[in-house]
Amino acid sequence: MSVEKLTSHVRNGNRLDRAGALELYTRASTALLGELANEIRGRKHPDRIVTYIIDRNVNYTNVCVARCSFCAFYRPVGSNEGYVLGFDEIFRKIDETIALGGGQLLLQGGHNPDLPLQWYEDLFRAVKQKYPTFKLHALSPPEIIHLSRLSHLPVPQVLDRLIAAGLDSVPGGGAEILVDRVRRLLNCYNKATADEWLDVMRHAHRAGLRTTATMMYGTVETLEERLEHLFRLREVQDETGGFTAFITWSYQPQHTELGGAEATGVDYLRTLAIARLVLDNFDNLQASWVTQGGKVGQLSLAFGANDMGSVMIEENVVRAAGAAYCMDEIEIVRNIENAGFVAKRRNMHYDILGEPMFREREVPRMLELATARAEGDTSVPEELRFYPARSRSGKEARTP
Ligand code: SF4
Repeated sequence: MSVEKLTSHVRNGNRLDRAGALELYTRASTALLGELANEIRGRKHPDRIVTYIIDRNVNYTNVCVARCSFCAFYRPVGSNEGYVLGFDEIFRKIDETIALGGGQLLLQGGHNPDLPLQWYEDLFRAVKQKYPTFKLHALSPPEIIHLSRLSHLPVPQVLDRLIAAGLDSVPGGGAEILVDRVRRLLNCYNKATADEWLDVMRHAHRAGLRTTATMMYGTVETLEERLEHLFRLREVQDETGGFTAFITWSYQPQHTELGGAEATGVDYLRTLAIARLVLDNFDNLQASWVTQGGKVGQLSLAFGANDMGSVMIEENVVRAAGAAYCMDEIEIVRNIENAGFVAKRRNMHYDILGEPMFREREVPRMLELATARAEGDTSVPEELRFYPARSRSGKEARTP
C-alpha cells in the first residue's frame, strides 16, 4: 500500500500489518507520522490530560553476571565498585519519596548471584510491613528469570512467591529488542531470549499483575527488527491485555563496551510515533525525557505520548551511560502545561490521583539526581549475613 492509502487506512481506525508499518516508518514524513500518532492519542485521550507519576527508581545492586554489551551500569562479581543496598538505605529512599508525594518504588538491579530469592521476599515483606500502602513496581523479566535459575523454581512459582511477599507490578525493562539475532549481538540472549521475556509477562498478567513494556533501540537492530519488537508486544497484549504502557528510549553509548553513537531526536520521535500506530491496543505511551531531555520530551506529546513518566529523583542506569536529565514535579508540570495539556498525577494503573502535588502542599525541590550509593562506599549491608553467598567474593565479604 502507498503512504497515502496507509494514511487513510490508519485514519479509518484499521490495524497496520508489518509491511504497512515498514512503509510508513521508512517513507512517511516525520510531520505525517506525528500527525497520525497525535490523532490516535487524541482519540484515546480526548480530555488532553497528560499524566506523570511520582515514584523513585532504585537500583538495589549493580553487581551483574549478565554483562550486556550496551550496559555501563553493571560491575562484575568481586568488583570493588559493586554494591548492594541495605534495607535501611532502601527505607530512607522510600521516606524521601513519600515526602515528595510519591507512593511507589521502581526497583530494579543487576543479576547478583549472591542475592537469593529469600532476600527479595524479606525485602518486600519488610517494606510492606513498614509502609503498608506503598507500591513495589519491581524486577524486570530478566531479573525474574535470573531468580528462577538461581532458585531452581519455574517462573510462575517465583512470581507467586514474590506476589505473596508484596510485589505489585512488573516493569518492562530488559526487553531491548525482542529479536534473538539482536539479543545475541548485544550479549543479552542468555539473560532472556525474546520468547522468555514475553513469557514472563504472560505469566505475570495471568497471575493478575499489570506490567509495562519497553524498547531500547539504536544499537545493532534494523528498522524491521524494531517493528518486529512492536508486533510481538501487540500480540501478547491481544492475548492478555496486561500491559499498562509502552516506553521506548534510545541506546546511550557512553562508557559501554559496545560504544557507537546515539540515535537522533528525530529518530526518537519517528520511533515513538510508529509505536503509537502499531500498538493500537496500548492505552498509554510514555515520553522518554530522561534520555531525550525535557524539550524533546515535550515534543513527544505531539508524537503520540500521553504520559511524562516518572518524576526523576534517582536514576543510575542510563546516567552511567551518559544521560543525566533531571526534572522534578514542577519542571514536568511546566513542560506539560506549556505544550497545552492538562497535567495530572497518576499511579502505575494510570488511575488519576489528582492535581500536581506541589499545588496542594509544599514539597522539596529535587534539581539533581541522587545516586544509589555514595562513591567509595563499599559497606556491606548487615542483613546479607542471613543469606549464604554463592560467589567467592561474596563469601569473603560475609565472613566476620
Ligand atoms: S542491562 Fe541489566 S542485566 Fe544487562 S548487564 Fe546491565 S544490569 Fe546486568
